[in-house]
Amino acid sequence: MSRYWSDIVDRLTPYVPGEQPAFAHPVKLNTNENPYAPSPRVCEAIAQELGSHGDSLRRYPDPTARKLRETVAAHHGIHADQVFVGNGSDEVLAHVFQALLKHDKPLLFPDITYSFYPTYARLYEVRVETLPLDDQFAIRIDDYLARANQNGGVLFPNPNAPTGRALPLAEIERMLDVNTESVVVVDEAYVDFGAQSAVALIDRYPNLLVVHTASKARSLAGMRVGFAFGHPALIEALNRVKDSFNSYPLDRLAQAAATAAYEDDAYFRATCAKVITSREQLTEGLEALGFDVIPSKANFVFARHPKHDAAALAAALREKEIIVRHFRQPRIEQHLRITVGTDDECRQLLDGLRAILE
Ligand SMILES: *Cc1c(COP(=O)(O)O)cnc(C)c1O
Repeated sequence: MSRYWSDIVDRLTPYVPGEQPAFAHPVKLNTNENPYAPSPRVCEAIAQELGSHGDSLRRYPDPTARKLRETVAAHHGIHADQVFVGNGSDEVLAHVFQALLKHDKPLLFPDITYSFYPTYARLYEVRVETLPLDDQFAIRIDDYLARANQNGGVLFPNPNAPTGRALPLAEIERMLDVNTESVVVVDEAYVDFGAQSAVALIDRYPNLLVVHTASKARSLAGMRVGFAFGHPALIEALNRVKDSFNSYPLDRLAQAAATAAYEDDAYFRATCAKVITSREQLTEGLEALGFDVIPSKANFVFARHPKHDAAALAAALREKEIIVRHFRQPRIEQHLRITVGTDDECRQLLDGLRAILE
């Protein structure tokens, strides 16, 4: 606290990102990064963009990221004017809070969800009403329907984080058919690992915004590239905020890298398939050790052991330089969120846990 701070800074509760440990070779399963490198075309595209002396870096990047938006639009079968890009989907979500959520009615989101949402709500002074997941940790759409058109917006990840549970598209449509007065934001950070995407619905529902990221399924967390897909009027609102904040959110290398990643569909599909296979094996391995594992459609699993304290397990794993995520939060303090790594990393995790449990 300092007398030079603005009024709001003192009231913020900043998001705490997962640790980036200083160990030389940690088994790092705490921030849902992809265990595989991006498509080889990504490095070629970055080298090409740089040129021999990095001459291109003298120039500002395309403020509209036109080529990237066109590439991603083609991938999804939509138009470039239905695509917004930002510096990671966290930035996209921040602009959504400012551009599209009403402040006179509460924003609805689940009690257990991505912890950046309450952080943004405080930053942008958006009122919030959290709706509890059911006892299987599933989102209950009926609770949202009960508040349809009496909210300032609806926001949830699908699959949800940190549970990994996915909603069928029909459930999301059931809400969109009724809740027509506010924006419904579906954060699909993990959708490519087995859930159904709502992108195909944006032509039918002018209040649907779908948020994607290149950080997870495209292996580009280090490049910071995120997207929103929706009606051109929603995209225009986001651009108005963006151009009042930072006209160049994506640098030249990020635009080149992400474009190349979306052009290599075969690599993307193969990587997702590998992660999905490893996730099923990891789930079986954890269950064999006595864990309860929520069925996951993401690149992580959410698990608890009925006889072992989650914080103690996370600490014991850390001693072995195996890093998983533990949240000190009501309802989930006995759970661990474990990113699906390579098969070798998953084996090291299971071996580590076996040794600790014995
Ligand atoms: C990882 C994640 C994001 C943020 O992704 P970036 O594009 O890296 O900012 C957004 N939403 C959810 C639910 C996530 O898990």
